[in-house]
Amino acid sequence: MLRTPIDFQPALDLELHPDAVVHLFVRDSLVQSLDEPRALPWRTWRAMGFQPARVHPIGRHQGVDHIAVALPDDHPADLMPDGWKAANLRTWFGSLDDETLSIAMRAVQILEWDRTHQFCGACGIPTEQASGERAKRCPRCRLTVYPRISPAMMALVTKGNQLLLGRGVNFPPGRYSALAGFLEAGETIEECVAREVREETNIEIKNPRYFASQSWPFPNSLMIAFTAEYASGEVRHDPAELADAQWFDLDALPQMPPRLSIARALIDATIARMRANGA
Ligand SMILES: [Zn+2]
Repeated sequence: MLRTPIDFQPALDLELHPDAVVHLFVRDSLVQSLDEPRALPWRTWRAMGFQPARVHPIGRHQGVDHIAVALPDDHPADLMPDGWKAANLRTWFGSLDDETLSIAMRAVQILEWDRTHQFCGACGIPTEQASGERAKRCPRCRLTVYPRISPAMMALVTKGNQLLLGRGVNFPPGRYSALAGFLEAGETIEECVAREVREETNIEIKNPRYFASQSWPFPNSLMIAFTAEYASGEVRHDPAELADAQWFDLDALPQMPPRLSIARALIDATIARMRANGA
């Protein structure tokens, strides 16, 4: 499961200096060397000769300052030096080390928030960077906006030695995962777990238990994962949300989500617990 290193310190006030490293984006695409994907040394970024549209300090990790830099939105993604490529963050899963990837996942959310909050949502004039906090403020009506984070729940429902798994309509062929959905205004996360499982599969749950959470910058989710137990109902999936949903025996599981996802961590931990209990 991907998360920023435990000794990573968020920071707003880093100096831009030659020992810093840069997470360089064109919109939501991360720019990386194809030969050696890694956080970009500041000198390498300067030598590329591009003009930044936005620069945000992200934080410090093991004495190194990490800076998010965005090229102008109209910079063609294929206009890169030889041996470099701009591609969606998911493209770099597996080739970029997990620590750099997890800090880049912070960087892209801050850059995207900056890009989409250049003007006040209430009165339309340009916003200003607030001092001392990661916020933008309207100089006229004082509206303050923080980086937007959208909570979503994930639920893995168990029944005996079976797991309830669904296939999203956009999943790769054969892939199943835990159920997931976004929190509604006014709802608790536990209410969201019960509602989403009911809406997507017609199943009632009991005993929701918190497992873990993961920031997921596509574009700004906080995925909050739960296990839950089956209470009642027959599986009937909502075709608008899912291509399929089924109970799977532990001995006959389908293709699972990728390693870095919280879904995979949730499923693996639940299987291990069920096996330990004799399933
Ligand atoms: Zn305003």
